[in-house]
Amino acid sequence: MITQIKGLHHVTSMAANAQQNSDFFTKTLGLRRVKKTVNFDAPDVYHLYYGDAAGSPGSVMTYFPFPNMRKGRAGVGEVGETEFAVPKGTLKAWAERLSALGVSGLAQGSSFGENRLRFDGPDGDGFALVEVDGDARTPWEGGDVPAEMGIHGFHGARMRVHDKAASVELMSFMGYEEAGVDGNVTRLIVPGGNGADRIDIEELPSAALADQGAGSVHHIAFAVEDRAAQLEVRKALLDTGYQVTPVIDRDYFWAIYFRTPGGVLFEVATNEPGFDRDEAPDQLGQGLMLPTQHEHLRPALEARLMPITD
Ligand code: ZN
Repeated sequence: MITQIKGLHHVTSMAANAQQNSDFFTKTLGLRRVKKTVNFDAPDVYHLYYGDAAGSPGSVMTYFPFPNMRKGRAGVGEVGETEFAVPKGTLKAWAERLSALGVSGLAQGSSFGENRLRFDGPDGDGFALVEVDGDARTPWEGGDVPAEMGIHGFHGARMRVHDKAASVELMSFMGYEEAGVDGNVTRLIVPGGNGADRIDIEELPSAALADQGAGSVHHIAFAVEDRAAQLEVRKALLDTGYQVTPVIDRDYFWAIYFRTPGGVLFEVATNEPGFDRDEAPDQLGQGLMLPTQHEHLRPALEARLMPITD
């Protein structure tokens, strides 16, 4: 069994409009944009990262905004809902805030005894704010959202699958422990996690497969401390029969990827080196940062990428 995984590292989705995307995560949700770079595999598309002050693993929502991309259709084989942790007693204020800002899909409810507020992202992305008591993670205080109701980071992610068995087995192999069932959702929690330590598996036997587009989660990444731990995880996955990519340098972390039996793309990413490797901590997310292999494209990319205003 794998013991090196410490919760989520980041969640990466797709969007149709970079400016709208940046405004939603920084102004509406009060996260900090911690990096403005490009998709390393398709550098004419931005890769935008939002999180807490440092972009700590477990807080980072990232986007590939493909201009005018058609919206995805939700279904199984993907992460249907990404959950953020907010302080106890703040959901009413959040509901009022999001409603006043025109956010759609607002629905308050509870799951696993936790109060939650479901809402849509700009492209119909599935999100929820979940009240968590005593979350020690510090929200970003430089935005429009008052610190006392700020987002601490991820709470977890909810995957939708036809049949939960193989996904539960995989999560258990990855070090997660079953923590209960609520309706058609099975919850797993990794002990000793970074706060973003819940994975919910929603079983929908007769639902259609997702058709990915804007608003769809592209993949979710799990956090390991360093490259040595990542190599141990890679070996354990390969030994179990998973097809895992080689280690890929993503500048701010090192990444490996594999497809799960339920159809969801998983990544395992290192906590090292972090988002301050090429920008000062007080400047994160401001400049267009390019990886070395794409620096020669800077003039063309600066001409082609739609500027983002704060
Ligand atoms: Zn990733």
